[in-house]
Amino acid sequence: MKKYSLKTKIIVWFSAAIILVSLIGTTAVLSVSRFVIQKEIRDTLISAVEDNADEVEYYAEKKTAEFDDPYDIYIEYKNGYLEIDDDFIKQMNGITTSLFDENGLIYGDNSLFKSVKMPPYKNKSISKIITESGTYYIYDIEKKTTDNNCYWMRGTVSAESGLSQVNHIAKLTFMIIPILIALAIIGGYIIARKALAPVSQINDAAQNIREGNDLSKRIVIGEGNDELHSIANSFNEMFERLEKSFEQEQQLTSDISHELRTPVTVISSQCQYTLESERTTEEYIEAIRLISRQSRKMSSIINDMLSFARLERNADSIEKEKMNLSECVETLCEDMSMFGENNITLKHNIEPDIFIDGNFELISRMTANLISNAYRYGKENGHIFVSLKNSDGKKALCVEDDGIGISEEAIDKIWNRFYRGDASRSTKGTGLGLSFVKEIASIHNAEISVESELKKGSKFFISF
Ligand code: ADP
Repeated sequence: MKKYSLKTKIIVWFSAAIILVSLIGTTAVLSVSRFVIQKEIRDTLISAVEDNADEVEYYAEKKTAEFDDPYDIYIEYKNGYLEIDDDFIKQMNGITTSLFDENGLIYGDNSLFKSVKMPPYKNKSISKIITESGTYYIYDIEKKTTDNNCYWMRGTVSAESGLSQVNHIAKLTFMIIPILIALAIIGGYIIARKALAPVSQINDAAQNIREGNDLSKRIVIGEGNDELHSIANSFNEMFERLEKSFEQEQQLTSDISHELRTPVTVISSQCQYTLESERTTEEYIEAIRLISRQSRKMSSIINDMLSFARLERNADSIEKEKMNLSECVETLCEDMSMFGENNITLKHNIEPDIFIDGNFELISRMTANLISNAYRYGKENGHIFVSLKNSDGKKALCVEDDGIGISEEAIDKIWNRFYRGDASRSTKGTGLGLSFVKEIASIHNAEISVESELKKGSKFFISF
């Protein structure tokens, strides 16, 4: 079964289920009908024989003509006679009632017992006999005479009478079932084909994507809410994520090679220049210093890049727990105010005990990045102000400086990887700090924004 298509499997299972249900249903209905009809036959036999039993009377005397009823039947029997009322019915609805005694038939029809051995009499009990001409029910009633003799009233009926209709219905049903099954298979085929059409579309689309290696392609199966549409949507989401991550990877590779090209070129040109002719000791020392600076820069680019890539890759699995944001920011402010870089003063106003669900290490790194940027791009004798407030359910962190500020053209670019403002080129840095800040904020579902004016200063907001 494994090698057959889903459509074939559905049709086979569907048809098998229909066949099974039809057979079980028909058999059950026919069996119940047979049972009910046979019970009806037995009940009718009992009541017919019991009714007839009241119509026969034995008189232990010689019959005289004066009581004769022209419609009744009189039979001489033993020392008297039997009077059989005209209401006695010998044959009705296939039921035959006759009178017997130990010597055989007294009155009625004996044809059934000509070919079959006479079964023993059993008072008021139903028995079944099987003959060549069919199965019969027998019901006996013992009648006593006043002179202590006994005779028997025996009713017989074919157990199959009335069943002919059931048999007819059964035959008809078994003739109709194959037609029903054929209809079920055709219906099943049409339903399966319609229901599984999106699967073929999904398969075609997936194959197209695989063959063409084009992750921008999507599965188009129109509107719908069923499981197949949901699979198609999941596939599309997966393709989108894959496309994004491939793009990110390509971007990363090109960014790294672009960023590393400058220090590598500087190092290689410096080596070439130094080795071209004999140099003084000072010139060698200068060359080595330059090479050392450039290699440190390369090292920090590689380190930052690796930790950024790791952060991006593991963004969904970063562990977060309830943390005291106030304590975290306050400690950082106190520690970093010791820098005293460019004689800048750091002040803070932190509302105590503001909690968030976050990753302590990443939140510290994000805040430290913003504060160190404020120092790096701050002016001589300038100020930094860090605040944390909880208003209207929003926890707002703000890092403000009165430094060089950011130009209008640059303000949208500062979040890009490796972007460095023109005025920042001379400072230390890799252009990855704010990309980290943005990624960490997004991991914590926090909103980030900036307000800045050239030469006046910048304000970075993060709202949790
Ligand atoms: P880096 O500081 O290593 O250059 P960042 O990603 O932290 O990288 O910042 C990117 C750019 O955004 C910086 O080069 C700078 O031009 C600008 N910038 C960031 N913070 C500030 C700030 N507080 N004041 C002015 N410019 C800033």
